[in-house]
Amino acid sequence: MAKIDSWQNALKQLDDAAKILKLDPGIHAMLATPKKVLTVSIPVKMDNGKIKVFTGYRSQHNDFRGPHKGGIRYHPGVTLEEVKALSMWMTWKCAIVDVPFGGGKGGIICDPKRMSAGEKERMTRRYAYAISEIIGPGKDIPAPDVYTTGKEMAQIMDVYSALHGQAEPAVITGKPLSVGGSLARNVATGLGVAYCVREAAKKLKLKLKGAKVVIQGYGNAGTFSAEYLEKIGAKIIAVSDSKGSIINPKGLDSKKVLDYKNKHGSVVGYPGSKKITTEQLLTTPCDILVPAALENQITPNIAKNIKCKIIAEAANGPTTPEADTILFKKRIMVIPDILANSGGVCISYLEWVQNLQRYYWTFDEVAKKMEEHIVRGFNDTYNLAQKHKVDMRKGSMVLAVSRVLESFEARGLWP
Ligand code: NAD
Repeated sequence: MAKIDSWQNALKQLDDAAKILKLDPGIHAMLATPKKVLTVSIPVKMDNGKIKVFTGYRSQHNDFRGPHKGGIRYHPGVTLEEVKALSMWMTWKCAIVDVPFGGGKGGIICDPKRMSAGEKERMTRRYAYAISEIIGPGKDIPAPDVYTTGKEMAQIMDVYSALHGQAEPAVITGKPLSVGGSLARNVATGLGVAYCVREAAKKLKLKLKGAKVVIQGYGNAGTFSAEYLEKIGAKIIAVSDSKGSIINPKGLDSKKVLDYKNKHGSVVGYPGSKKITTEQLLTTPCDILVPAALENQITPNIAKNIKCKIIAEAANGPTTPEADTILFKKRIMVIPDILANSGGVCISYLEWVQNLQRYYWTFDEVAKKMEEHIVRGFNDTYNLAQKHKVDMRKGSMVLAVSRVLESFEARGLWP
């Protein structure tokens, strides 16, 4: 059911933007349908010598603005509907931060935690072969997503390169540095969150020095959000992971908390902190709340009791639509996921550019270029939200759809 909701949610968000923009029904219908969806069968010789057939997908939602872009997910719960929704969200995400890509997404229905490294590699390579006719540096450039990493990206690059008789790093992003990956890729999401928060604070005239931050989830997105928010003067007072939540109103040192988590398996028990519940964490009075774990965490009940000024959605889909309405009424600025966590796609774009030009930038150069995309995306979203008197989520959708529309109008419909 939750999977069907993703697609329905995506369509509803498009409907909302279409209403504000008074979108032509034909164009609306075009944007509500992926351009191409490929379903592939992936036979894999398992370690026991038997062949198991997996199902994989690649959805290419829209390419008016440029080649498709989007991750590949390995999960038992992958469905075609989910992959379609994720590919549509990628179209909007790329348009908001103005990188010249359209949306795409892929996935394989599998349980990677129950597969050996060899089985996963054979599955990855066979999937790469199966989708090789529709991907390419100018067609569709995949990237990592849930349970895929740089390792799989390098394997996909290898298959594609073998099929085309030349090394082709620009076919995929999120690669290890040794095969054309980009510096700053690992910190991209958290750094992007910090840039967004800094811009939001300017609009709200909120002082970041000493501003109190609460972070739900202490993985890649959460830890780097904490680190970079600390760097711009904010104070982390509460964090959580799957084992529980902790608080210390005097402040937590983000790096020391991470060291503690790496050593003990959780943030819980960190010296000087007190354990609290998830609900207490999310409703702790603070200035900035960063959900960086799972979807649907901020429900109407939680939203009613949230006491912060900015919510920066590092996670995908952490706020339910009903909760959004409550937060808007409470004048809490929600920086929507498709903007707040777009650091990853910005650096993917920069990785692709570096691969195409065969010339590589320093960490600072990459971070600076990403900052320009995110700051512009934030301000363009903010201005549209103000103009239409809507929340930042609707503002970001209006921005994205109008940018895609502008490209369509320039290119026209052929024949
Ligand atoms: P991750 O696996 O590195 O970390 C997830 C963290 O969430 C872990 O610390 C885990 O313990 C914690 N967690 C799990 N269940 C929890 C719960 N019930 N309560 C509190 N914490 C819980 O994942 P990540 O890459 O940091 O991704 C987190 C979110 O950010 C996801 O929604 C993901 O889609 C989104 N995101 C990540 C990136 C990225 O580049 N990493 C980019 C865009 C969006």
